[in-house]
Amino acid sequence: MTQFRAFEVTKQEDGSFNRAIVERDTSDLPDGDVLIRVAYSSLNYKDALSATGNPGVTRNYPHTPGIDAAGTVAASSDASIAKGTEVIVIGFDLGMNTAGGFGEYISVPAGWVTPLPTGLSVREAMILGTAGFTAALCVHKLEAAGMSPISGPVLVTGATGGVGSVAVRLLSQAGYETHAVTGKKNEHEFLTKLGATEIHPRSEFDDESSRPLLRETWGGVVDTVGGTILFNCVRALKYGQSAAACGLVSSPIIPASVFPFILRHVNLLGIDSVELPLEQKNVIWEKLASDWKIDNLEDFVTPLILESLSDAIDRILAGEMVGRGLLAYAN
Ligand code: NDP
Repeated sequence: MTQFRAFEVTKQEDGSFNRAIVERDTSDLPDGDVLIRVAYSSLNYKDALSATGNPGVTRNYPHTPGIDAAGTVAASSDASIAKGTEVIVIGFDLGMNTAGGFGEYISVPAGWVTPLPTGLSVREAMILGTAGFTAALCVHKLEAAGMSPISGPVLVTGATGGVGSVAVRLLSQAGYETHAVTGKKNEHEFLTKLGATEIHPRSEFDDESSRPLLRETWGGVVDTVGGTILFNCVRALKYGQSAAACGLVSSPIIPASVFPFILRHVNLLGIDSVELPLEQKNVIWEKLASDWKIDNLEDFVTPLILESLSDAIDRILAGEMVGRGLLAYAN
């Protein structure tokens, strides 16, 4: 049994949610095949939903959020995962109803554990985290649907956020003409540094007209926001091209018609990083460690410690985070 620190969310009698840093013991963790000493976690939008009582994410409190963790195996009952191995865990139930990476230890099933691929450090893995992984999954699925640099410019929405910023860098590194949509007037330099060739204000994508189609513009879209913006991207896809939908920060509802699908032969691709089978997750991690290794990952980092998490949660909920919040433990 080992004592450790964790960021804990509790539900109060009046229905509100309280955040605190508490002492925990590894015996408090759920039974799992693998006990991991977490070196790094990261802040994702979903963690902020968990920390504020969103029942679609977390039902049982007190709870430690953190859908990402990377570190070293401290104990294992699974013969394929040896003590001392460096590993990554993202998605599945981690940080939802299973105590997550906002604690210094996690205990999880062996089927959630990705051995750290050669070419990636645990720090780099968590700078990427679920957000960076999801950006890569979007590009992977878009390319499987036929997208290539000759398809035309690729648009990324919510571009300064976690998923969006990594998508911009990944696409530009892979030779795509990458356009970014942002609501932030003062982050154009950040986006240009990531490789965006054109930056569009969010208001350009507010068109609520019922026009069946917009001018054919995009060779692909990575959409992190949903709602009207997503459908306006779909209406402006070039013939036969695809949009990958992974997020809902604007709205989970898409005000859509079938016209782009039946007149332009376009595709709307669904992206889920959570329940994606481990073998498929491992393929994406391997790519991120090799062909798709992101340059200058430190450019993305907003450093976090347990004590600064609560403020960062409020900032991500307000749509104010830029890049990736990296939670580092001093262990
Ligand atoms: P972030 O908060 O880091 O980024 C979201 C970005 O969206 C913001 O930075 C902002 O960028 C933009 N934005 C914020 N509010 C609005 C709004 N009202 N309308 C339009 N744009 C807005 O979140 P993440 O990048 O971590 O996640 C993005 C989305 O993807 C979330 O919905 C998250 O739940 C989802 N997600 C889904 C996954 C999956 O497996 N399907 C995995 C990971 C994330 P800017 O100011 O530049 O426009």
